[in-house]
Amino acid sequence: MTDTANTPTTDDHCDVCVVGGGPAGLTLALLLLKTGFRVTLVERSASLDRAYRGEILQPGGLALMDQLGCLTGALARGGYSLDRFQLVEADRVLLDIDYGRLPPPHTSLLSIPQDHVLAELLGQCRRFDTFHELVGHRVTELVTDGDGGVRGVVATGRGRRRAVHAACVVGADGRYSKTRRLAGIETDRIDAFAFDVLWLKLPLPPGRPRPREVRVFRSAGSPVLVYPSYPGTLQIGWTLPHKGYAELAARGVAHIRDEICRAIPGYADLVHEQIVSLGDLTLLDVFAGRAQEWARDGLVLIGDSAHTHSPLGAQGINLALQDAALLHPVLTAALRAGDVTADRLAAYAKPRSRDIAQVMKVQHIQAKAMLSQGRVARAVRPRLASFIQRTPVGSRITRLIAHGNPQARVRTDLFGPGVPTAS
Ligand SMILES: Cc1cc2nc3c(=O)[nH]c(=O)nc-3n(C[C@H](O)[C@H](O)[C@H](O)COP(=O)(O)OP(=O)(O)OC[C@H]3O[C@@H](n4cnc5c(N)ncnc54)[C@H](O)[C@@H]3O)c2cc1C
Repeated sequence: MTDTANTPTTDDHCDVCVVGGGPAGLTLALLLLKTGFRVTLVERSASLDRAYRGEILQPGGLALMDQLGCLTGALARGGYSLDRFQLVEADRVLLDIDYGRLPPPHTSLLSIPQDHVLAELLGQCRRFDTFHELVGHRVTELVTDGDGGVRGVVATGRGRRRAVHAACVVGADGRYSKTRRLAGIETDRIDAFAFDVLWLKLPLPPGRPRPREVRVFRSAGSPVLVYPSYPGTLQIGWTLPHKGYAELAARGVAHIRDEICRAIPGYADLVHEQIVSLGDLTLLDVFAGRAQEWARDGLVLIGDSAHTHSPLGAQGINLALQDAALLHPVLTAALRAGDVTADRLAAYAKPRSRDIAQVMKVQHIQAKAMLSQGRVARAVRPRLASFIQRTPVGSRITRLIAHGNPQARVRTDLFGPGVPTAS
């Protein structure tokens, strides 16, 4: 029994209850507010001061932030533009994707702390008096009608229980989505990324040049992801065989440090100075998966709650933003028609499911190509890299990674009168 079990429940009413104030939830909330709907956001964290993982935005994500009028403000909070993605093997750059060759205006990757993006989205939501926030509240129950349709949620936090009644509930509460679990929707885990990731940040000393690329180093030992993270640090993601950490940790921090140095010898001095105990390393549970259903009567799942991606190819935030942009017109039409049934929401879920299947396929190939060990993989890798870089099919794959679905754009034509399209 929770400490609020006997607390009286108060009631809120809105058009849409968005559960989760991450990139997916806040983007959708802002789009719906601009369209004229009343939105209640339920977010379990009390502030933006929480742990984040993803921070690379692709040009497709940048374009949506720009169209929403949030990019300039997010950039002003700080971030690094990155020119290229590279796969480096034994000092040889096997794959070199130059983002400068993509069509303007967004011709780079952006490494930006996720709270800079969220602060900007949230700040814009707060300009609407039709926006209601229940921060520091977790969703604990779904409110349903007699036919199993979802009609709202119960949110618990700060010693109180609130029933939020809504025409539609959007589950945007991440990969362990409580909303999804409360609806009894199963997730299929996809074995596209059979690795664990040790995640660590290394502050760069003053005067040390900051890289301008996202790189995967495959020179020795386990592959390592390296990119600059604002402000002034290197983000390192060291992949290791799934469930292999316990054995490594048993050999001590010096052994792990040596292994990381072997993989990125150029940063060996920083690794030696800054990794002093196992506590300096974070082991991440990284997996890919997708929910078996994305829409029910009165309920739709977006972002990681519907489909979770491995970090490879920096897709998750970008896809979350695109989910919101693609759901926006479908949900607007459904709310205006007073018909928020699963059938109606399928106009979003069905085509989006095909997009996501395609991205997952590409990520699976990426994982195999970049991370596999062994002689065959070593022999095939350069040919695959050259295929990606030099053939039309390779260009299509690059465009898919960089832009996602080109139809995902902000539908400013649906916004209410007097709503600014950009700040
Ligand atoms: C190691 C790693 C690196 C990554 N790197 C990148 C990258 O570089 N680029 C990229 O695009 N993607 C990256 N990703 C993926 C990216 O982080 C996610 O795909 C993205 O954050 C998904 O956004 P979301 O809004 O769907 O969910 P989330 O960002 O997970 O947001 C969910 C929100 O819901 C809230 N919440 C959870 N439960 C409840 C509840 N019961 N009630 C109320 N609120 C709740 C949470 O507090 C959170 O604010 C990476 C992932 C990992 C693991």
